[in-house]
Amino acid sequence: MRNVVIIGSGCAGLTAAIYAARANLNPLVIRGLEAGGQLSLTTLVENYPGFPKGVQGPELIEMMQKQAAEFGAEFKEGDVTRADLSRRPFLLELGKEQIETKTLIVAAGASAKLLGLESEKRLLGHGVSTCATCDGYFFRGKEVAVVGGGDTAAEEALFLTRYANRVSLIHRRDQLRASKIMADRLLRNEKIKPVWNSVVVDILDPEKSEVTGVRLKNTQTGEETLYPCDGLFIGIGHSPNTALFKGQLEMDELGYLKTRNGSKTNIPGVFAAGDVQDRTYRQAVTAAGSGCMAAMDAERFLEAEG
Ligand SMILES: Cc1cc2nc3c(=O)[nH]c(=O)nc-3n(C[C@H](O)[C@H](O)[C@H](O)COP(=O)(O)OP(=O)(O)OC[C@H]3O[C@@H](n4cnc5c(N)ncnc54)[C@H](O)[C@@H]3O)c2cc1C
Repeated sequence: MRNVVIIGSGCAGLTAAIYAARANLNPLVIRGLEAGGQLSLTTLVENYPGFPKGVQGPELIEMMQKQAAEFGAEFKEGDVTRADLSRRPFLLELGKEQIETKTLIVAAGASAKLLGLESEKRLLGHGVSTCATCDGYFFRGKEVAVVGGGDTAAEEALFLTRYANRVSLIHRRDQLRASKIMADRLLRNEKIKPVWNSVVVDILDPEKSEVTGVRLKNTQTGEETLYPCDGLFIGIGHSPNTALFKGQLEMDELGYLKTRNGSKTNIPGVFAAGDVQDRTYRQAVTAAGSGCMAAMDAERFLEAEG
């Protein structure tokens, strides 16, 4: 029986582990199939405080994990495949293995939706990005493209106009799904060039480990063209990793966990941290901050329970 189990080994889960371990709660972190979380997928992180020259995402995660292990956190590989939160202690399953815990911190993140191209996988963090706030700065004076037609894509494109000389918005239809106010702002912006009725069928050039352009297919004519750009932002939304908790934990319409009074969910003893409960900020530092909150809330819960 564990005091605290943390689902997820991104910034939120690892920060929760540091705090819970220093509180002598001997937490168990279940790392998940994407061990290290989203920061493990990127290269230079320039906006995490404390690193004036930036830090490589995987290196930052490794340091967080070492720091948690230093204070006694334990780690387990694999995904939680089932969770029963209707009983106490809570029951988690990893395949055939069962784990019981008095408190649970869900830090399972939210994965950016991707196009599903092999070249996209190879170039993620090397010119392909899912976060303009994170990576826009690297494209000062360059030409970038954003894929999508909803509010996410519109926000990303507008943000990128601060840095890039030209922002092409590639959308499969001939009008935007984004809210009217967003769409108007976007279409009024001189730096934004809509590319209608087009889908990205390939990204160049994985061999060079950089983006040099995209191959577009016109959805009306089927014609394929090469469109040069220095970076590609995928703005087609995120999906929180919460399927395990459907019918148990309260979620919003997109599946993000609902928290109140800090990190508390609707089930006493279950806390949520990081992108899994944050559809607004989705940053490493905000995930880490909420991981700290969840560990402190779990500690106080255990203390109150005696
Ligand atoms: C390419 C890229 C670049 C980025 N750059 C920056 C940047 O420069 N600055 C910045 O502040 N932010 C950046 N971000 C955003 C930042 O990475 C996220 O906000 C942050 O990682 C969220 O942390 P998290 O711990 O909430 O979730 P995640 O990092 O998503 O981690 C989720 C964890 O949960 C685990 N998990 C999921 N399901 C299960 C399960 N069923 N069982 C067990 N484990 C599970 C996964 O394996 C993973 O370890 C970037 C994101 C990406 C994708």
